[in-house]
Amino acid sequence: MSNISNNTLKVDTFTCAWCGLTVSTFAADGTRRNHCPSCLHSQHVSDHVKGGPSQCHGRMTPIAIAVLRTADWMLIHRCVRCDELTSNPVCADDNQLMLMRMAVRPLAQPPFPLEALGSL
Ligand SMILES: [Zn+2]
Ligand SMILES: [Zn+2]
Repeated sequence: MSNISNNTLKVDTFTCAWCGLTVSTFAADGTRRNHCPSCLHSQHVSDHVKGGPSQCHGRMTPIAIAVLRTADWMLIHRCVRCDELTSNPVCADDNQLMLMRMAVRPLAQPPFPLEALGSL
């Protein structure tokens, strides 16, 4: 069927809601990506609580890095519209400087004086 071959050949892209970059839905290694490799912003298009597509379409800001037991990095996004949090695997071609900045941010801004650690 011609429909099927059309779908496979179709290059899926989305426009980054933050920096306007045209992003391929699939990374170079074939993994599906939902965020911009340059500024790491995403868009709220799938409902992670109920499953399926979301009607929100709000911009999702990258707020943190989480490290899994497998040592894989996950990127945590928060929707600016509805505050939903999502986590997605980091892609190989993601902006590494942005990732590192996010990973060290809590260390650079501790919520307590670092001198307190010396007295523990
Ligand atoms: Zn972007
Ligand atoms: Zn949302």
